[in-house]
Amino acid sequence: MANVIGIDAGGTLIKTVHLENNQYCYQTFSTNDIMEVVLWVNENHREAKLMITGGKQTKLAQLVDNEVEMVPEFEATTSGIQAIVNQANLALPDSYLVVNVGTGTSIHSVNGKSAERLGGTGVGGGMLMGLAYLLTGRTNFQEITRLAEKGDRNGIDLKVKDIYEGASPIGGDLTASNFGFIERIKHNEVKNEDVLACLIGMISESILMMAIPFAKTTSTANIVFIGSTFQSNPLFRQQLERFEELFDIKAYFPHRGQFSGAVGALLYR
Ligand code: ATP
Ligand code: MG
Repeated sequence: MANVIGIDAGGTLIKTVHLENNQYCYQTFSTNDIMEVVLWVNENHREAKLMITGGKQTKLAQLVDNEVEMVPEFEATTSGIQAIVNQANLALPDSYLVVNVGTGTSIHSVNGKSAERLGGTGVGGGMLMGLAYLLTGRTNFQEITRLAEKGDRNGIDLKVKDIYEGASPIGGDLTASNFGFIERIKHNEVKNEDVLACLIGMISESILMMAIPFAKTTSTANIVFIGSTFQSNPLFRQQLERFEELFDIKAYFPHRGQFSGAVGALLYR
């Protein structure tokens, strides 16, 4: 039985972390099944204090009988990253940008102990789920990411080289228009896996294009990507890593980054 549990109740997933035999124990629940968290707490951690953050914090707090403390989400997330990275014995530079790709996407700048939210976008994990369903009828996240890995973006996305007949002023392999190769789309067979690869490509490119100017204006080259959207989603990472050289940035994907909010809430004081 834990004394304290950190809980990040997000729009899609509820992440929890608590100490068990001096080890952090991580769990994920679906926000749609919020009562499963309540049951788990009631059965195993009736006396624990719950440190709750995230958009569903008020809802969850109303459903439990435990003592609760509400933790502000952005503080929890940015302080949690530091703790997660320390646990993994990794080092992060002093200043970096945090891009939290959850249901929605939130961008923060961190400099030493201070952090500031710079902006956000509705282009994120929720959009991935919604458009994947509309385009392919799939709803299972693992299935979507597995299929996308096998996909081919050629012939759906229009690349710079598909427009420029001669020498182009920018790399020919860059995307000129996501889903823009309408002539090919109309005439060729389009597989679900190809559509999903394009979708992940579009989302990753859009997020990166929003993050890069923030990185430049805050004079950092380091971008830390967190959020459950990166979980077992190697294509998403690869699509972002492609741009490290071009934009002179360094992308980090900390192990268990999706638990930053929960860890930050657990350690909050
Ligand atoms: P927000 O912070 O915006 O309120 P959240 O905290 O719930 O949302 P995350 O848990 O970081 O967000 O990420 C949610 C996204 O992760 C989903 O939109 C989806 O793209 C992806 N995802 C990963 N695993 C799952 C899963 N098992 N079920 C549903 N979505 C998943
Ligand atoms: Mg979240």
